[in-house]
Amino acid sequence: MLVCRSDFVKKVGYVMSIAERFKDGEDPSTFKELLSFKGMGPKIASLIQACLGQIPDRFAVDTHVKRCSKRWGLTEETNVNRISRDLEKIFDKSEWAKRHFQIVAWAKVHCKARGHVSCEICDLTRIKESKES
Ligand SMILES: [Zn+2]
Repeated sequence: MLVCRSDFVKKVGYVMSIAERFKDGEDPSTFKELLSFKGMGPKIASLIQACLGQIPDRFAVDTHVKRCSKRWGLTEETNVNRISRDLEKIFDKSEWAKRHFQIVAWAKVHCKARGHVSCEICDLTRIKESKES
């Protein structure tokens, strides 16, 4: 992925301002507080909550989760916010962080964006689809 230098500099500035605000060791307490940071979106806010051992307020959707969710028939949406909503209906909230990381790990090894023919989950999805039609 090509990242523009100005985007990189902008992101570093966001990270530095967040680090400055929490340098005294106090963790952000709420999703809303995390979203108040410039440059912070729902995906990163949810992942930070997960890394802090909190139950995230949203199902984090990155490029891997987006791709696999569509391939596996978990959503028909293309918008990450709508995909997040669909996944939130499927999985128990207490499992959102775990499921996010499991999907990402599976996607990176077995259900890659390029050169993907099939994986065990894609195969299961196709079997389910053929039985339904
Ligand atoms: Zn696959």
